[in-house]
Amino acid sequence: MAHKVEKTFRFVIVGGGIAGVTCVEQLSSQIPSAEVALITAGPHIKAVTNYKQVSKVLEEFDVEERPSSVLEEKFPNLTVIHSAVKSLHTQSHSVETADGRVFGYEKLCLCSGGRPKLLTQENPYVLGIRDTDSAQEFQKRLSKAKRIVVVGNGGIALELVYEVEGCEVIWAVKDKAIGNTFFDAGAAQFLIPSLEADKPERAAPCKRPRYTTEEPAAGASQTFTADRNSRGRNSGPTEPGSALGPDWHEGIALRGAEQVSRRVSVEYQCEVEKIFTSEELLDSQQQTLRPENVGSWPVYIQLTNGKTFGCDFVVSATGVVPNTEPFLHGNNFARADDGGLRVDDHMMTSELDVYAAGDVCTACWEHSPLWQQMRLWTQARQMGWYAGRCMAAHVLSEPIELDFCFELFSHITKFFNYKVVLLGKFNGQGLGPDHELLVRCTKGREYVKVVLSGGRMVGAVLIGETDLEETFENLILNQMDLTPYGEELLNPNIDIEDYFD
Ligand code: FAD
Repeated sequence: MAHKVEKTFRFVIVGGGIAGVTCVEQLSSQIPSAEVALITAGPHIKAVTNYKQVSKVLEEFDVEERPSSVLEEKFPNLTVIHSAVKSLHTQSHSVETADGRVFGYEKLCLCSGGRPKLLTQENPYVLGIRDTDSAQEFQKRLSKAKRIVVVGNGGIALELVYEVEGCEVIWAVKDKAIGNTFFDAGAAQFLIPSLEADKPERAAPCKRPRYTTEEPAAGASQTFTADRNSRGRNSGPTEPGSALGPDWHEGIALRGAEQVSRRVSVEYQCEVEKIFTSEELLDSQQQTLRPENVGSWPVYIQLTNGKTFGCDFVVSATGVVPNTEPFLHGNNFARADDGGLRVDDHMMTSELDVYAAGDVCTACWEHSPLWQQMRLWTQARQMGWYAGRCMAAHVLSEPIELDFCFELFSHITKFFNYKVVLLGKFNGQGLGPDHELLVRCTKGREYVKVVLSGGRMVGAVLIGETDLEETFENLILNQMDLTPYGEELLNPNIDIEDYFD
C-alpha cells in the first residue's frame, strides 16, 4: 500500500445510513472506551428517531438526516471521516479513502447500502431514485414532463405512481398485479381504486365483505384517472448520501407540467424490450406507434407486450444492487446471487474481522421458517444493531445468539395512504401449494389476509386500521393449531383479541 496508516481504530464502520449509524451507536454505548471511526461518503448521517416497539417484533420509527457532529457530540470516542472508502486491504486490516488516507481497524463493518439497478447505464433519459440528490433530480425533470414511464413493481414504484400529479404515468409491471413484492392480486385489487381517488382520502366504510379479483391478461392495460389539485411542499437543500426511506416524497412536490391531476395506465406482465431516441425511432421501420404516442418525445420505450410509448423520461425502479464494488478488489469475499456480501448468523462476511449489515449484505444463515430478508429500513436498523452487538461480543469474548427480531419477518409501512403491516410469509413465500389463505376485505377500508400452513398461521397482510397486528403476531409466533376456528378467525363480529386471550 502506498500510504502510511494514519490511525488504527478498534472498530471502523463504513456507511452513514441506518445500518452504519445504528452499528456505531450500539458499539459506542456498549464499549464506551473503544475508539470507533465512521467513514461515510456523504456529509450527513441518518438517525433513527421516535423509535417505537409496537409489539414483540413490529417496530416503527422515523429517519432524519443529520449532521455527523450530533453523533460525535454524543460519543466522545467516535471520529467521523467524510470520504468514500476506495479500497479495502483485509490482509493488513486497513481501508483507504478517496482523499488518500489510510486507516487501520481491528474489526470492520461494511454498511455501504445499495444503488438502483438501472435498466441501462448512462442513458440520460433513464433515472433511478435512491438518495435525496436523485429524488431532487427526478422532481426537477418531472416539473417539465407531460408523460413518464415507471418501470418496476416494488415499494418505490408504488409510491411514485400514487404521488405523481400533473403528468401522465405509464406504469410497466412484470407481474399480473401491482405491488407484487409486497402483495398478492387481491391486495392489489383493493389498492387500485386509490389511484382513481383524491388524496389524502379517508374512505367511507362500505359494507362489502366480498370482492372479486380479475387478473389482467398478459399485455393488458388499465387506466385510472383522478381529479386532484393538491400540491406537495417544496424541499429544502439536502446532500447526497444514503438511501431514502418511506417518506422520501414528503416535502418534494411531485408535479408534472400538465394541469391534469393523476393519470396512471398500468401495463401488466411486461418488461422493457428497448429504449431509444426519436432519431432511432425514425430509423427503425418496425416500430408501430399508437396515434397518441406519435409526437416528438425525447425518448421511446418498447415493452415486451409489443407496445411502444414516447415519454419525457423513464424511471427505473427495479430494485437495488448492493454497493460492494470498492471492497472486492484484492479480497476474497463470498457473494450471494443477488450480489450482496454473504454474512453468517453473526453478521460476519467470509473475510476475517469484516462484518456487513443492511442493504450491502445478504443474510446467508439458515433462516427461521417465518423470516426472509428484504432490503428495508427496519432490517437495516436491526442488522446494524445486531452487527454492533456481535462485534462487541467478539472482542469481549462473550457468547451471542441470533437476535429474536430475525425470528419473524415484520414490516409496517404506508401505501396509497393506507397503513400496511406485513408479517411472516405474508405472500406464502417458499410454501409451495401447501398453504391456505383466508381473506376479509371491505372496499376502501381494510384488507386482511392470513396465510395458514398445516392449520397454523405463518403470515399475514393487514391493510388499513385493522388493529389485528399484535394478535396475529402472537398467533404466528406461538404456532397454535387454528384448525378448530376455521373461517371464524376472520369473522368481523368476533373480537379476536378476546378469543385468544
Ligand atoms: P444506505 O441507507 O444506502 O446507506 C449507505 C451509506 O453508505 C450512505 O451513507 C453512503 O453515503 C455510504 N457509502 C456508500 N458507499 C460508500 C463508500 N465506498 N465509502 C463510504 N461510504 C459509502 N425501506 C423501507 O423500509 N420502507 C420504505 O418505504 C422504503 N422506501 C424507500 C424509498 C426509496 C426511494 C429508497 C431508495 C429506498 C427505500 N427503502 C425503504 C429502503 C431503505 O431506504 C433501505 O433499505 C435502507 O436505507 C438501507 O440502509 P443502509 O444503511 O443499508 O444503506
